[in-house]
Amino acid sequence: MMRNSLGIAAAFAAFFISNGAFAMQDWTLLIHGGAGAMAPGKLEPAQDAARRAGLAAALEAGKAVLASGGSALDAVEAAVKVLEDDPGFNAGRGSVFTYEGVNELDAAIMDGRNRAAGAVAGLTRTRNPVTAARAVMEKSPHVMLQGPGADRFARERGLDQVDPSYFRTEERWQQLQKMKENAKTGAVFDADMKYGTVGAVAKDVHGNLAAATSTGGLTGKRWGRVGDSPVLGAGTYADNRGCAVSATGSGEYYIRVGVAHEICARMRFGKENVQTAVDAVQAEVKALGGVGGVIAVSPDGTSAFSFNTPGMYRGRATSGGEFAVHIYGDED
Ligand code: ASP
Repeated sequence: MMRNSLGIAAAFAAFFISNGAFAMQDWTLLIHGGAGAMAPGKLEPAQDAARRAGLAAALEAGKAVLASGGSALDAVEAAVKVLEDDPGFNAGRGSVFTYEGVNELDAAIMDGRNRAAGAVAGLTRTRNPVTAARAVMEKSPHVMLQGPGADRFARERGLDQVDPSYFRTEERWQQLQKMKENAKTGAVFDADMKYGTVGAVAKDVHGNLAAATSTGGLTGKRWGRVGDSPVLGAGTYADNRGCAVSATGSGEYYIRVGVAHEICARMRFGKENVQTAVDAVQAEVKALGGVGGVIAVSPDGTSAFSFNTPGMYRGRATSGGEFAVHIYGDED
């Protein structure tokens, strides 16, 4: 409350002295809830509606921060937390299961002002991995923590802890069983089973960028596998001089291409616009055999989605009045 009213005051102050050196800028927020084979008619109407409602709630949470003059960093954390708490997405509650039947959660957050960053991998007890990532950034000398130590760090910093059963949903459990069945018969793993990694990128009224990503990873992952989401420069990156990016998809490819940093580098050094940069790097991922998508915002507030799957859960809100969520490829 206090932060909000201070934020509003700051926003108004910025507005009223906008003919001086300090002008309030536009804000932009993009979110995603995973890329995959979603197609009209493939999702039950109730699922379609629930996912859209979840995306809209996340956009509202981020918008509330940005519209009151808050930081891009607070906005991406707020939006991602809503999606982590929503059991319909593969992050936080509702995450996919490892081969051993555990939920292991990964997340990262990055501040474009100074490239401060925090990441966590393999959490099993911390309710909001994105908040743990932020605590790593702000309350530790490190950038990435993993496994039981990361949960212990989050607990010691006072973050909400839950019994691991909190993350479990029946649907994700059944997906693991089906994946194991398929493996016996040699059937191809169904990409539908892993949708739902979540992420957000934002530009605030002060001109700063931030990005955050959170995931349960891939159904049936083994051996401590970690994907791109918590790897800075792969699934998550923010730099005021380039852009802010959050990715979703076959993480191994996103790590190999260094997707998020590559997009920012093309914009920073090659002066590409954001749509050109995201499409070019997505094409590189595709050429190697990877599938997925990205969201990105540039320092001037222009933004882009790019995905090579039939659909991507996504949404955008801007100070110009846009507020829209989409699922299928041809919706906007
Ligand atoms: N990129 C995530 C990972 O590889 C999964 C996803 O986005 O669906 O862990």
